[in-house]
Amino acid sequence: MVFDGHSDLLYDVTRRRLAGEDHVLERCHLDRLRHGGVEGLVLALWTSAAGGETFWKDVRPTRTDADRMEIMMACARSEFAECPWLAIVRTAGEAERARSEGKLYAFLAIEGMAAIGEDLGGIDLCHAFGARIGMLTWNEENCLATGAGGDPYSGLTDLGRQAVRRMWDLGMLADVSHLNDGGFGDVIKLAHGPVIASHSNCRALCDVRRNLTDDQLRAIRDTGGVVGLNVHHAFVHADPARQTAKTLAYHAAHMAEVMGVEHVACGFDFCEFMGPGNEGADGLENCAHIQNLFYWLEELGMSAREREMIARENFLRVLA
Ligand SMILES: [Zn+2]
Repeated sequence: MVFDGHSDLLYDVTRRRLAGEDHVLERCHLDRLRHGGVEGLVLALWTSAAGGETFWKDVRPTRTDADRMEIMMACARSEFAECPWLAIVRTAGEAERARSEGKLYAFLAIEGMAAIGEDLGGIDLCHAFGARIGMLTWNEENCLATGAGGDPYSGLTDLGRQAVRRMWDLGMLADVSHLNDGGFGDVIKLAHGPVIASHSNCRALCDVRRNLTDDQLRAIRDTGGVVGLNVHHAFVHADPARQTAKTLAYHAAHMAEVMGVEHVACGFDFCEFMGPGNEGADGLENCAHIQNLFYWLEELGMSAREREMIARENFLRVLA
């Protein structure tokens, strides 16, 4: 069984519910999750992208990040109320209980905090919503920090440092997957517990800013955190011919070599439902195909024990 540490399914939930649909997870996604062996996942609330190529451009009134966050939270709550088979959890213990009852379980995350503006009370709001994981930015620059799409060197703002401390006070994990390099270093310096990169690969194999250098992998290891393997084609390899499940397995092997296998996890970031440009690597088109990655991990010589750690144990350890 697999724990997927980063899923954007709430994007599809919001889009479809705003178009009048209901029971979105059950009708459109549950079979594929079960087929892929997913026992639990992190559902992220991605609110930072204003219009552009997303469905938000057709939704009124959603002029601000705060509007989008409020709408996404409302849609998520309505959807969860229709899912007796899904448990929203905050700890690995709660997850284990849900699993023993035969339920799928989900932790919640906030992917980008532009919506809170300069009001750190927004972090308490995210926590009250149920978020256990928080990312200061998506790829944008905001009041707290700069994302991977901005100036690579600028660090956290003073407010961003306070935000990280507030998250830790509330028991939320800081997720650096979308931060620029400067912000990454600042979060590591502030850390007094595990820092995670929920959905990022290795720059050594695919040199994009959303992936991590070997030094960054080691820095996460030193906090006791984990890095989640991401299927997004452009984060797997620069050459389209090598954007495959097999190449993603090489990322896993590289991470295991640099950090130790106990820091390698899954954060698949399947986004095929967002349309063209969001494809997973070949063999990992959607979550029904997750086992193809584990086939290649076995081919590369990883033991059953190592695969089990990557599949679920490592991520759940930091969510204890
Ligand atoms: Zn992301």
